[in-house]
Amino acid sequence: MKHNFGAGPCILPQEVFKQASQAVLNFNDTGLSILEISHRTPEFQAVVDESVRLVKELLNVPEGYSVIFLQGGASLQFSMVPMNLLASDKTAAYLDTGSWASKAIKEAKLFGNVNVVASSKESNYTFIPKDFTVPEDSAYLHVTSNNTIFGTEIFDFPKTSVPLVSDMSSDIFSRQINVADFGLIYAGAQKNIGPAGATLVIIKDELLGKVDRKLPSMLDYKVQTDGGSMYNTPPVFSIYVSMLNLRWLKAKGGVAEIEKENIAKAKALYAEIDRNPLFKGTCKVEDRSRMNVCFVMENPELEKPFLAFATERDIIGIKGHRSVGGFRASLYNALSITSVHALIDVMQEFAEKHG
Ligand SMILES: *Cc1c(COP(=O)(O)O)cnc(C)c1O
Repeated sequence: MKHNFGAGPCILPQEVFKQASQAVLNFNDTGLSILEISHRTPEFQAVVDESVRLVKELLNVPEGYSVIFLQGGASLQFSMVPMNLLASDKTAAYLDTGSWASKAIKEAKLFGNVNVVASSKESNYTFIPKDFTVPEDSAYLHVTSNNTIFGTEIFDFPKTSVPLVSDMSSDIFSRQINVADFGLIYAGAQKNIGPAGATLVIIKDELLGKVDRKLPSMLDYKVQTDGGSMYNTPPVFSIYVSMLNLRWLKAKGGVAEIEKENIAKAKALYAEIDRNPLFKGTCKVEDRSRMNVCFVMENPELEKPFLAFATERDIIGIKGHRSVGGFRASLYNALSITSVHALIDVMQEFAEKHG
């Protein structure tokens, strides 16, 4: 068995892969593949409806919000958010906590003014800045709830009177959130939702149609919510497999239950990083991500041998992003505690040899 710690696209539950492969051959006993039916059939409409229902149920989405599946990944949301919410003579506030945040900032500057309220760039994004103020006339505040590359996570969202927009690509459905605190949430599917291709957007209806800039239909949240994710052909397979994965999550007991597992997994791995003299964490302890655990070795020369040692033992995808180096173990929902213990065992075995 391979233990897949990849950062994204990433592990999904085995039973979801099995069900998805069955539907490629024969979807719901229609004798047709999920890949060949029309997205306008009642069968596929039922898939979209159930996916939206599961998102609302699992995240307790209150009345007054729309849930849609778009394309273009989280990266297109970096543009769609300011296009739809930032008038050209207004200013949006952004918290700069990593590469994805700074890419979002770059796109927003194309549409209006950007006020970077705080940044941890100088420390190579090893912490979440907490001491900043958001001007009350900001169009919105944009944050990245989990910094996939640097391994930090926001546990206390900033309190602000302006709409809070969050890129939750790598921690959505991993922990409970209060959707009512947000104006807009977006996430590329490929980290805790399903396969790459779909992008989940949860938007407060009162933010729709606010900016009077001319928008291409495909990039207009109002057109997309009115079209119920089907203004054009949606990413049918990605939505279908996301539905299967959300069913899996619901059957497991939902977000509250998976959050407990995620806390236990992260706790076990960070404890080993802190205990084992060969390894050390890269981020401020209080901001450590539960989804992406970044660590390096005290002796960088041992990093290559450790990676080879781990790979031989079926530990996959732990090479760190080039901007941090070292290692990154991603502990998404479908990764079991057994895999975390397998990694811990390998770290201990390696330390015995090189300690
Ligand atoms: C992966 C990731 C992205 C990029 O997602 P795409 O769907 O590839 O555009 C953006 N933000 C965060 C936080 C991510 O983890």
